Amino acid sequence: MKYTLLIKEDETSKRIGEYISKRILLEKDEKNPDIVISVGGDGTILQAAHTYPNKTIFGLHTGHLGFFANYNPDTVDDLISDINSGNYMTSTVDLLSCKIEEANGNTITMNALNEITVISPKKTLIMDVKVDKEYLETFRGTGLCVSTPSGSTAYNKSLHGAVVDHSLKCMQLAEIASINSNAYRTLGSPLVLSYDRIITLESSIPLDINVSIDHLFYTFSDFRRITFFYKGECLKMGYHKEE
Ligand code: NAP
Repeated sequence: MKYTLLIKEDETSKRIGEYISKRILLEKDEKNPDIVISVGGDGTILQAAHTYPNKTIFGLHTGHLGFFANYNPDTVDDLISDINSGNYMTSTVDLLSCKIEEANGNTITMNALNEITVISPKKTLIMDVKVDKEYLETFRGTGLCVSTPSGSTAYNKSLHGAVVDHSLKCMQLAEIASINSNAYRTLGSPLVLSYDRIITLESSIPLDINVSIDHLFYTFSDFRRITFFYKGECLKMGYHKEE
């Protein structure tokens, strides 16, 4: 068993990270760890999840709130003994997948822990929204955000989306500055859909768009379609086993 540490760049996180580093008995391996210890906030866990997919993550939050982390500064010694003894539990967090299709036929598939957003940086975004291939609406506005239950407290919340119980199996579509006038109509409210639905956003012409996947950002100049779905991929999080 090997481990690595990801530490947020603030004094408290650095001090706790150093305390952990001195006491973990496993070999340190930044390239290919089995276990990743994230010390910081939810943003640090997002980085850990994308840098080390398929590894078990132990999150210790040093801020005021931590939606993903299972440990805090008061339980740092539990984290150390759990990892040294191998006596811990794991839980899973579902990852939302998306498949992006370009007009030239290229496709790219990625996973998100919090959310995926599609934003048009230059012009009003005009896209058909479909649920399970059924036409729902033609969206006009700045963009759309599809979030997981655990991401519902992040960007989605700023878009007036609902905060969703993490144990629910669902995804949420929220609008970013939709145009609603006498001529154009969108649903105008967040839409919470079951885990087994597929959302499609589709343009009849190639578009210049930005796609964010959690903290990662991509641009496409030949965008045609994006589908959102769950395919059973999860993030594994370690937590303390109560005796
Ligand atoms: P970041 O600094 O890593 O995160 C931005 C803020 O979002 C931090 O305060 C972070 O908390 C918080 N956060 C992340 N995941 C959360 C969750 N599941 N529930 C509640 N708060 C959460 O910034 P970044 O690298 O630009 O982007 C990462 C995330 O920021 C994205 O996934 C998106 O959700 C969020 N974001 C929000 C807005 C908005 O609300 N307008 C805009 C862009 C991005 P910690 O301080 O604990 O790390």
